Parts: sequence; C-alpha cells; structure tokens
Amino acid sequence: MEKKLSLYIHIPFCLRKCNYCDFLSFGGCDFRQMEKYSKALVREIESYKGLFDDTIVDTIFFGGGTPSILELPLLEEIFYAIKRVFIVSENAEITLEMNPGTTDEKKLIGYRQLGINRISIGLQSANKKELELLGRIHTYEKFVATMHDARAAGFDNINIDMMSGLPGQTLSDFRVTLSKVIALKPEHISCYDLIIEEGTPFYDDEKVLDSLPDEETTHNMYNFTKTMLAGYGYKRYEISNYAKPGYESRHNLTYWTDGRYLGLGLGASSYIDDLRFKNNSELKRYEELTYEKNNGMTKSWHEEITVVSEKDHMEEYIFLGLRTMKGISVKNYHETFGKDIFEIYGEVIRKHIDEKMLVLEDDRLHLTDAGIWVSNYVMSDFII
Ligand code: SF4
Repeated sequence: MEKKLSLYIHIPFCLRKCNYCDFLSFGGCDFRQMEKYSKALVREIESYKGLFDDTIVDTIFFGGGTPSILELPLLEEIFYAIKRVFIVSENAEITLEMNPGTTDEKKLIGYRQLGINRISIGLQSANKKELELLGRIHTYEKFVATMHDARAAGFDNINIDMMSGLPGQTLSDFRVTLSKVIALKPEHISCYDLIIEEGTPFYDDEKVLDSLPDEETTHNMYNFTKTMLAGYGYKRYEISNYAKPGYESRHNLTYWTDGRYLGLGLGASSYIDDLRFKNNSELKRYEELTYEKNNGMTKSWHEEITVVSEKDHMEEYIFLGLRTMKGISVKNYHETFGKDIFEIYGEVIRKHIDEKMLVLEDDRLHLTDAGIWVSNYVMSDFII
C-alpha cells in the first residue's frame, strides 16, 4: 500500500493579535517580514527533497496565524516548492485558513487556480459586541461578503469556525450566531468552547473572567449545537466538528486516526512513523537555521525530537481516536499493536461502559453523548 502523508504549513502572521489567542502568531507584520519567512519555508520544504519519494501527499493544510494575509505571489512560491518536492495526490484536500478582511475576490480566484479546494473561515461570532471583545478585525457583514466571494470563486467546500462560551454570551446569543452560520450553508462547521489561556489579555481581565457563562450554559450550548446542526444535515464526527456527508476534514482526520503528518514552518509539529518532532518556535532563529544544509529526516531546526514508545503510541491512539464519533476499531488496534485492546484496557473499558461513558458497537469503541462532555476524564483513565 502506498504511504500517505499530510502536510501542515504554518503561517504565523495576523493583522492584529486577538485577545484570547495563544497560538504561535504575530500581529502587525510587514511584507518584508512575510517575504523573509516564506523564503525560509521554501528552504525547509526543499530540505525534504528525496525523503518522501515513496509517499503520496493526501492533504495539505495552510494554518496559522492567518495564511490569507500572505500576498498571492508568496503563497505561490510556497506552493510551487511543495509541488517540486512532494508527490501530491490529484485529489488531495488542500485547505487554507483565512480571516475576513485579509482577502478579496482576486486572491480567492488565485487560491482556486493554485489548487486550493477547501477554505476555513474564522467567524467566531456574528455578534458585533462579541467580535469586538474578542479583538477580531472583522464584522459579520465583512464575513458574509467573504463567504459570497469564496462561493463566486468556485469554493464548494467551506468550513466556518465559531466559538461558544464567550464572555457575557447567553444561549440565545449563541443561537443567533449558529442560525446565521447555518443560513450561509457551509459544508463544515467547527465550534470550539472558549478556553482562557495564560499569557493572553483575557487571562488577567477580571471583567472577562467574571462574565464567562457557567458550566450549565456552555453544556446547553454544546447540546444545542449538536441538535440544531443535526436538523440541518450536519453530523458531528469529532467532539467539536460537524460536516455534511462527505465533507469531513480529511486533514484533521489524519491527526485523529494515527496518520503521518509533516509540519512545515515556525513551531510546526510532525509525526512520521515512530518519530515526533517540533520546529523551532523563535522566528529569527528558525529562519537562520533553514540555511543549514541537512539531508536527513531530522533537521537542525527540529526541537523536541522524540522516538514514540509503544506505550505512548497506544495511549495517543486511544486519546485521539476517541475524539472521533466513530471511535476506535478493536480490530485495527490489534493490527497496529499486535495486542488485544481488552487485555490492556479491559478494566477501564468495562468501567466506562458501565458508567455509560463508552459504548462498544460491533468492532468500534466510542464515547457516548454523556462521555463526550467528560471526555478528558474518560481519556485520562487510559494512561497506563
Ligand atoms: S486571527 Fe486567529 S491566529 Fe490570529 S490572533 Fe486571532 S485567533 Fe490568533
């Protein structure tokens, strides 16, 4: 069987940093900086020449940051480098994350011409006050215009990112955003609960902290999302992701189903066979290091190189697999590890089945609705 690979390309630039964001991204960068970074990325990509000749790239994901902030010629350079170095499948899923206010019709048409066939647009909320509080650069109207431009450019696979549990948000506020999202008929919707991360402006803002919805409200938002989206033909296939049939994100499924991926760019993470590594996260240093010639799999800009032990692999297989609604295949577990999952985890599995957090249906072990809400608790029991 042909080996498969997913590529993640990190573009760490944004127009402005949002108040809740702890991603590796910088606001207010200029063209020169982005050009320098793109060239470093191209050097990194080219350093893999010859190393993946037995592999077909099945998905590519430009994430960030805000990849759509890059001028088209820079994106083209990165794209052409990928095509020079990797064998990209003809029906590869190629996603670009974008934010309203950083694209126009011309760029979107350019994306299509490059072969990008899926876009993921960050809306987060349709409520003006919530958008301002989050520090987003766009308005809902701008988002709608971007959505229309994307459809006009021929995109027929669009994800909308939205958030729940925002400061001051009521179930009824959330319902309005969700209804507006559904009305735009995206093929895919990701909905994440806001997490207050250390080091972000939200973390020290007492007004924000005091106005966060309580657990019951966020739980209601979560249940409401599933029920309402199901009514419109969106199936939850992962804890926070919903799709029309056939539009599940193949790239993200790679992460959740033990697939191989290569992360390119600042701070990007990779998982290739039994090797995990992460790129240097300091911008200037990363750019400098990509000048060093390195022909092996591990590079001078890789940090935290780990050989994944069987024990870690078994745990990760379960943590990630249980995020998906399909869960884990008992048969595939045996094929992967040569061991019966019940021999290792029998007691834990039985406990959570008794508590109605897990269910075994034919060959598949998966979380129940109740289990999804306390998934961290269930998964922590699988640490050997
Ligand atoms: S646009 Fe996204 S990556 Fe950029 S600062 Fe906002 S949340 Fe972070």
